Amino acid sequence: MKSSRTFSIGLLLFLATVSAAVAQTSMTLSVDATDAARNIVHTKLRIPVKPGPMTLFYPKWIPGEHSPTGPINNMVGLKLTADGKPIAWQRDDVEMFAFHCEIPQGVTFLDVTFDDASQPESTASAKLARIKWNRLLVYTQGTNSDAISVKASLKLPAGWKFASALPILNESNNELQFKEVSLTQLVDSPAIIGAHFHKFPLTSTGIMNEVDAVADTTSALEMKPETVTGLKRMDAEAYALFGARHYRSYKFLVTLSDHGGSEGLEHHESSEDGVGEKAFTEELELLDFAELMGHEYVHSWNGKYRRPAGLATPDFDQPMRSELLWVYEGLTQYLGKVLPARSGLWTSEDFRDAMAAVAAQMENQSGRDWRPLVDTAVAVQFTYPSDRAWMNYRRRVDYYDEGSLVWLDADVLIRTRSNGKLSLDDFCRRFHGGQDSAPAVKSYTFDDIVNTLNEVMPYDWRSFLNARVNAINPHAPIGGITNGGWKLVYTDKPNSQIRIGDHARKSIDLTFSLGVLLKEDGTVMDIDPNLVAFKAGMAPGMKIVSVNGRGWSSELLQEAIASSKNSTAPIEVVVENGSFRETYKLNYHGGTRYPHLERDSAKPDVIADVIKSRAR
Ligand SMILES: [Zn+2]
Repeated sequence: MKSSRTFSIGLLLFLATVSAAVAQTSMTLSVDATDAARNIVHTKLRIPVKPGPMTLFYPKWIPGEHSPTGPINNMVGLKLTADGKPIAWQRDDVEMFAFHCEIPQGVTFLDVTFDDASQPESTASAKLARIKWNRLLVYTQGTNSDAISVKASLKLPAGWKFASALPILNESNNELQFKEVSLTQLVDSPAIIGAHFHKFPLTSTGIMNEVDAVADTTSALEMKPETVTGLKRMDAEAYALFGARHYRSYKFLVTLSDHGGSEGLEHHESSEDGVGEKAFTEELELLDFAELMGHEYVHSWNGKYRRPAGLATPDFDQPMRSELLWVYEGLTQYLGKVLPARSGLWTSEDFRDAMAAVAAQMENQSGRDWRPLVDTAVAVQFTYPSDRAWMNYRRRVDYYDEGSLVWLDADVLIRTRSNGKLSLDDFCRRFHGGQDSAPAVKSYTFDDIVNTLNEVMPYDWRSFLNARVNAINPHAPIGGITNGGWKLVYTDKPNSQIRIGDHARKSIDLTFSLGVLLKEDGTVMDIDPNLVAFKAGMAPGMKIVSVNGRGWSSELLQEAIASSKNSTAPIEVVVENGSFRETYKLNYHGGTRYPHLERDSAKPDVIADVIKSRAR
């Protein structure tokens, strides 16, 4: 079924005028992925045309990425022909995703060929690849993507398998023909392909959902029975939470590779979940995998079905407005932690460690002195790809993590004031639930959020949200923790979420002691300008080469931090800044510090209620 969308009247009229000239165009797309392992995919399009000037457009604003991230520079070898004769093209000198050409009299179809030459380690390895259709096509600029229909086909490397939410017409000899769908649905239905494939059915809610996984090795596909059980439970918990689904069936498209690129991109009936080769087996990677699955699944409701009006654009050309990403990503980040805990993929301690890490990280973002949370969302084009250096001062994509704290705060408030009768689940059922349906887009505004919260529980939600989202706040919104019966404390016990971050980045997170994030070789990745390392003179890019007179090792620095509690002497480090060396004295005596939640027995444990199973 075609997706429906809500736009302002002005935009709708504009689109109606533009698409009248090219209404219901249908094109064919033939993708040859036989060279995918070499990071190059070949594409051929046949587009119905009329004589006269024409502008082709390469998808620029990518749903889920909220930014003009279409990899136009990877489009190489572009050639246009009509009836076998070359047609000249000219790139627009301002809008570089647009290509102008002149269609001669008598021509009814334009043939377009090009290659998608992607960077190594981004979307493919030697044994698998993610096929993103938006990187393999152009369309007539100014046409609503719902009004273009596409007949697509895909050729695979010999012996490779395939999975996608895209409906298949027929399949033979490594070649797939798909049913004709709208351009919107096509772009929303990517494929994974690979030499090693396994399907894990998740039939917990009465319809056929599944995890489809391709990996660099067959052994990487061995999922523990308890993980399979946990994922089935999570499927059931999500349905119990929202009370309805807005997909026909859902596929988690998982790629397991240390070389095929990490990914987490939501779609209506699937998600691209790119993880490491050991994601099903290694303890920390498995915890991280559970959260990724929860997060991307929640997006089918929160992001794809209910979408901020500014992100519900009619094509891949109109700019997106992202000020509500603290709902789109923030609520998803919150529920993406709640669901693994409700389904047993996480323990209750994993959940508390995750919220403790988020609370401590956000509390320690020095950039919160100058920048409101909403600005990290508005500026997503820059916050998402921004460099690690000075991130603590700049702030990062805090609409995810701080957004999750805002929603925990709201959840605990509703539970406390209603004496446990109501919760954020009631908001989700009203906002994202309703009747089971095929994919559709129902857009919303800030007022819709406030109104639905008020329907659940009358409260001054406008002020609640404005204070946490739109104002500058020196402190992170940790009311959900403190009112939920817990205290944010720091101990020398490692935090599982901090360990996951260090494992993934190959880093040493000393944010809560010295105020630095280091690479394993001692290079400073980021620094907190309010804490001791910065005050001593250190900055991102500098590299610690010795600790207390001995050559660099992370163990040596960790030992020095641990014993700083019982010492009055500073930790002395020699630091390289380019080819120069300097000695700095770190006056730190706080010992090893990691964030945790500690029970506050004066208050009821509301957080335990948050993660209680709803489906069982
Ligand atoms: Zn997300």
